Amino acid sequence: MGDESKLRRWGNDGGGEPRLRCDGCRKIHDVREGTAYAGIRTDLKTYELGAKLLAEGVSIRATGRILEMDKDTICEWVAQLGEHCAKIATYHFRKLHLTECQLDELWTFVFKKEAQLTPLEQMLNLQERVSG
Ligand SMILES: [Zn+2]
Repeated sequence: MGDESKLRRWGNDGGGEPRLRCDGCRKIHDVREGTAYAGIRTDLKTYELGAKLLAEGVSIRATGRILEMDKDTICEWVAQLGEHCAKIATYHFRKLHLTECQLDELWTFVFKKEAQLTPLEQMLNLQERVSG
């Protein structure tokens, strides 16, 4: 898309949605391009309500019944919303200044390893801990 400061309002698309044109590359963009709303033909209030219902754990079929929409449309929304959420999560999970790390997996590994020790090894291990 290039430099966003070069985008100018460029009329509407067939559905009445505003379009933008880049003065740099002269490409015309849908105003919803790159958002969770891109390509959605449903009324936005309905779509937003659907997204909220899904986020609250309401099933796809139940969301379809509540909104009086086909479950296949809701499935398409789930895919689109999921992809958009993944992009947002990937964007935000960068350059994290972590000071601690939870090592649950490593602890499970150590615990299992200790459980595998023979009685003699367990005794030596215990002795090592007491003296060291
Ligand atoms: Zn451009």
